[in-house]
Amino acid sequence: MVNNKSRSRIKSLRGTQNKENQSPKIIVAIDGPAGAGKSTVAKLVAKKLGFFYIDTGALYRALTLKAKRRKLNLNDEKLIIGLLKNTRIELAYKNNKLKVSLDKEDITQEIRKPYISYGVSDVAKIKGVRQIMTEIQRNLAQGNNCVLEGRDIGTIIFPNAKYKFYLDADFKERVLRRFKELKENNENIDLQAVEKDLATRDNIDSTRKIAPLKKAKDAIRVDTTNLSINEVVDKITSWIKP
Ligand code: C5P
Repeated sequence: MVNNKSRSRIKSLRGTQNKENQSPKIIVAIDGPAGAGKSTVAKLVAKKLGFFYIDTGALYRALTLKAKRRKLNLNDEKLIIGLLKNTRIELAYKNNKLKVSLDKEDITQEIRKPYISYGVSDVAKIKGVRQIMTEIQRNLAQGNNCVLEGRDIGTIIFPNAKYKFYLDADFKERVLRRFKELKENNENIDLQAVEKDLATRDNIDSTRKIAPLKKAKDAIRVDTTNLSINEVVDKITSWIKP
C-alpha cells in the first residue's frame, strides 16, 4: 500500500507531463539489460512516433543518489522505502532532452555516473520500492501514448502493452558501448570496471525475487549486437501501427 504522503507526491509527478483521469493509450514497452541500446533507441522511437518517452531507470537512479548522499545502507529496506516516500522525482522534457529532478534539484548528469550504477540494483530489488515505483510509472504514462524503457515494463508495469520489445546484445558489445558512453562524458573509468558493473547488475536484476529482468513471453526480441541505432529504430517502428 502507498500512504497518503506518497499519493500526493505521485500526483505532482503526473502533473509534470500528463493529462489527468485518462487511461493509457498506446504503450510501447522496451526492456533489456544495460548497454543493449534501450535508452538511445527508446528516445528516437518516441520522437519518431510523437510519443512521450519515460526512462524508468532514472527513477531508481535518483533514489539511489539521495540514499548515497545520506550515506544510507542501500540494503536497509525500511530506510530506503521511507526515503522514497519523502522524495519528489520529476521527469521533464525540453527540446527533446530529458531533465531529471530530485526534490527540485537538476540531477540529470549526476545519476549517470558510475558510483550510482554501482548501487542502483540494490535499491531496485527492494519490494516496497518497486511497489511505489510501479504506481509512479503507471501514473506518468496515464492518458498518453508512451515509450517506456526499463527492466519490467512488459512483464509487470504494463503487461497488456500493445507493443513489447526486448533488446539484447552480446555482453562484450554491451560493455564496449557503455565504456564509450562514459568516456564521452569524461568519466575516468577503465574497461574492467564497466565489465564488472554490467555483470553485477545483470546478475542482481535478473535474479531478484520481485520483477526480475526477463523477456515478456509476447515481446519481440531484437539482438542489437550487429545493428546500428537507426536499424534498430526502424525495426521497432515498423512493428508499430499507431
Ligand atoms: O536503465 P538503467 O541502466 O538506467 O537502470 C539502472 C538500474 O535501475 C538497473 O540496473 C536496474 O537495477 C534498475 N531498474 C529496474 N527496473 C526498471 C528500470 C531500471 O530495476 N524498470
